[in-house]
Amino acid sequence: MVMESNGFTPAALLTAAERGNLRAMTSPAATTTLRLASPPEHVFPKLTAAQMDRVAAHGRLRRVAAGEVLLKMGDSGKIFVVTAGSIETVRMVGDVEEIIVTHGVGSFTGEVAVLSGRRGLAPNRAREAAEVIEVDRSRLMALVQTDSELSDILMRAFILRRLEIIARGSTDLVLLGSRHSADTLRIREFLTRNAQPMTYIDLEQDADVQELLDRFHVSAADVPVVIFGGRTVLHNPTNEMIAECVGLNAPVDPAQVRDVVIVGAGPAGLAAAVYGASEGLDVLVVESRAPGGQAGASSRIENYLGFPTGISGQDLADRAYSQAQKFGAQVTVAKRARALHCKRKPFSIELEDGSTVSARTIVIATGASYRKLAVPDLARFEGAGVYYAATPMEAQLCRGEDVIVVGGGNSAGQAAVFLAQSVRRVYMLVRAAGLTETMSRYLIRRIEQSPSIELRTRMEIVGLEGGDRLEAVRCRDSQTMAVERRAVRQVFVMTGAEPATRWLADCVTLDDKGFIKTGTDLSRDELTAAGWARMRAPHHLESSLPGVFAVGDVRRGNLKRVASAVGEGSTAIALVHQVLKE
Ligand SMILES: Cc1cc2nc3c(=O)[nH]c(=O)nc-3n(C[C@H](O)[C@H](O)[C@H](O)COP(=O)(O)OP(=O)(O)OC[C@H]3O[C@@H](n4cnc5c(N)ncnc54)[C@H](O)[C@@H]3O)c2cc1C
Repeated sequence: MVMESNGFTPAALLTAAERGNLRAMTSPAATTTLRLASPPEHVFPKLTAAQMDRVAAHGRLRRVAAGEVLLKMGDSGKIFVVTAGSIETVRMVGDVEEIIVTHGVGSFTGEVAVLSGRRGLAPNRAREAAEVIEVDRSRLMALVQTDSELSDILMRAFILRRLEIIARGSTDLVLLGSRHSADTLRIREFLTRNAQPMTYIDLEQDADVQELLDRFHVSAADVPVVIFGGRTVLHNPTNEMIAECVGLNAPVDPAQVRDVVIVGAGPAGLAAAVYGASEGLDVLVVESRAPGGQAGASSRIENYLGFPTGISGQDLADRAYSQAQKFGAQVTVAKRARALHCKRKPFSIELEDGSTVSARTIVIATGASYRKLAVPDLARFEGAGVYYAATPMEAQLCRGEDVIVVGGGNSAGQAAVFLAQSVRRVYMLVRAAGLTETMSRYLIRRIEQSPSIELRTRMEIVGLEGGDRLEAVRCRDSQTMAVERRAVRQVFVMTGAEPATRWLADCVTLDDKGFIKTGTDLSRDELTAAGWARMRAPHHLESSLPGVFAVGDVRRGNLKRVASAVGEGSTAIALVHQVLKE
């Protein structure tokens, strides 16, 4: 039987009563079919006859019989353009079949998974006798790289379709969890940041959840639980297990020696991937979590060139990820680089699962993580009152207000002095008894001389309050243990950043804080100690190991901005070309 739906009710989320009704209306063995409301036209555009002719040059014409399956569940390696008749994109959720869309003449199947080689989210089937142009992944890549008009239409549709699937919650992946569980938060973040649609059911909120728990023999103590494809049940899985199960990564050939392996898929790594792949290099990106890096966590990046109204970090990451794949870069997620074996060429990078990848050159783009405040709800206020940089942009946000700067180092001192020019009052909180041990004398003097900076020693933040944005801060005096509440809407956390360089052991020269030294930052002595074996000096972004580059936040001297990370990622590729020619 076929039912109509508004398209926003995935079968996994139907209430028990609704599911019961559905079953009662069908024979026990029958499959219930749910026809979702037609998706918006711009998500499923139609190609003109001339455009279809150009696609045909990259594919093969095929006749299909009514009901014939063109693409099975999980497959994603091809798209179909309908030239006669119609085909459907469907999906099974439990025992309910959802018809997502019917493609008529000129319409085409596919979404971003076809470019990434990820597991496909929805199979295709002929609704009636039809004729299609079948284009496999490699021919599709050639098409989007050479035909800019079709590239625009296809790429936009693929991205919008993924967003549509996410918005509809139309998925066979269910996460059962609790908002009080850190692992539930981790899994939600991992799936969201990887643009993987899911249905989230919160044990604390959903009264019908017991039926689902019983159906999969899961007790409330087992959460978080991931249920996939109506069959596979994973109890508190690691990100890597989820990536494996859901098919987030295409297989990596361990025997293949890549022109360049990029470690880290933040803005720097993704930029290197886009430039490397578009310039014909064989590129592999290894990312321990999800594309986007720190920027992916930013709710709105306002200062990145070309986005006058700002762009969310997630949007920027999704676009860059698709762009890298369009040019043929392979991006693997949930794969942490554990060690670099640098004594022999090609270099070898050992991943956390024990596998290795080989590379002629390496771009290290593993970024840095800011030391964070140990307070509940911090993530909610990051970018909405809690900042890790004090630039003119942030200063503008708090002109004439009171602000707090946390930290006793030079970066905190510089931030306080800078902000004091435009805000009403800067409360500078340090845990120590004073600044002399940690800050340069000239900055201490300026702080002392500034009437609008108030130094508060032995103080730490213990709580943040607010709704959509920060509204007040609670601070504790570590001597008296007295807690005071201040109506401050901006906190600048300047307690330093930790670069992700431990996995490099002593392959490359680091500075005293662990950031990678490159180019002219490397002294003659350091190069000698590192055994630099080239007649030339290291290139601008090259480390003390020839052919290994460092870009973005992980590099000493980097500006800690999205734009500088992107700039360095793209520049490194020009240098990779030079090293590959040596
Ligand atoms: C909350 C917040 C808001 C921000 N807002 C702005 C802003 O508005 N404008 C602006 O210009 N800048 C902003 N920044 C700074 C900006 O995000 C960073 O400068 C930028 O992301 C640095 O890019 P990156 O690629 O060098 O490193 P990162 O973004 O840190 O990316 C590094 C990537 O490497 C991965 N990785 C780490 N170790 C390994 C390993 N061993 N193996 C594999 N992968 C690994 C990480 O998972 C991560 O994805 C913000 C930062 C934060 C935290």
